[in-house]
Amino acid sequence: MKIISSNGKEDLAIVHIAESSTGNLVEFVESMHLQKPRSEKWILTISTLYGCPVSCTICDAGSYYLGRMSKEAMFWQLDYMISRHYPDSKIPVKQLKVHFTRMGEPAFNMSVLDVINEFSWYFEAPGFMPSISSIAPKGSEKFFDELLRLKNEKFSGGRFQLQFSIHTTDEAKRDELIPVKKWSLNKIAEYGSKFYVKGDRKITLSFAPSRENPIDTKVIRGIFDPAVFLIKLTSLNTTQNALKNELTPVIEHGSTQEGESAINSLAANFADAGFEVLLIPGNSEELVIGSTCGQNLIAHSR
Ligand code: SF4
Repeated sequence: MKIISSNGKEDLAIVHIAESSTGNLVEFVESMHLQKPRSEKWILTISTLYGCPVSCTICDAGSYYLGRMSKEAMFWQLDYMISRHYPDSKIPVKQLKVHFTRMGEPAFNMSVLDVINEFSWYFEAPGFMPSISSIAPKGSEKFFDELLRLKNEKFSGGRFQLQFSIHTTDEAKRDELIPVKKWSLNKIAEYGSKFYVKGDRKITLSFAPSRENPIDTKVIRGIFDPAVFLIKLTSLNTTQNALKNELTPVIEHGSTQEGESAINSLAANFADAGFEVLLIPGNSEELVIGSTCGQNLIAHSR
């Protein structure tokens, strides 16, 4: 692998693009929390696939798919970012969050589990917190069973973050938006109840609301337990695919009054239903770093 470009600001986020020996491009990001020094929190976001076969209508990573990344290629991304700041591989950061979300659905790559499992063989990082964001594709039971085992064995007590991208409660719209066979909402709820044990972080249900894709808080409350799941409402990025598919974000960069009131009312409905709600504004750190599945600069540049 070799670095092609690195752009951004050290005190905010740097997006690196590298090229594999076979000519595939990969994108990964290191970023800072806006209010915390690196010693408190540092966020690394790596890719797990070259592109993505899912082709969600909101995401540009799905415009192409060139295969899974090897464990070594994922470690290469981590090592590149870590050695820029901690060349001795000792990372004295209180919370080192590693998102496996930049390009690619992580459940399609079993090597993601090896990277999580073996991370401590190569890096001394007491604050390591892995984070998986998934659409829960059908057939990924083995990945999620193994993930559950790994979390219980090494990352219990709130040291693991798991997120499912839901986006809409209208099943037909969900099939259009995420056009592969995937777990039903009931199956996600059932898995989450097995995955979560007291002391863990709650599992996130992520929504990037768009006007075309309804979200019924009653449907979510009827299926998901607020003691196990929390809700994240984030901006739908204006990717090329989102524009092509004429999706209108409810939360926009530089929100309008109308958008703000719609999102606040959705957040209030979820809160009334008993859920903890994370409302991620349109210009937030999360969007800069792309910690929600489906953000991709390479596709933009192609
Ligand atoms: S949103 Fe995630 S699963 Fe969907 S195409 Fe993009 S990378 Fe793949």
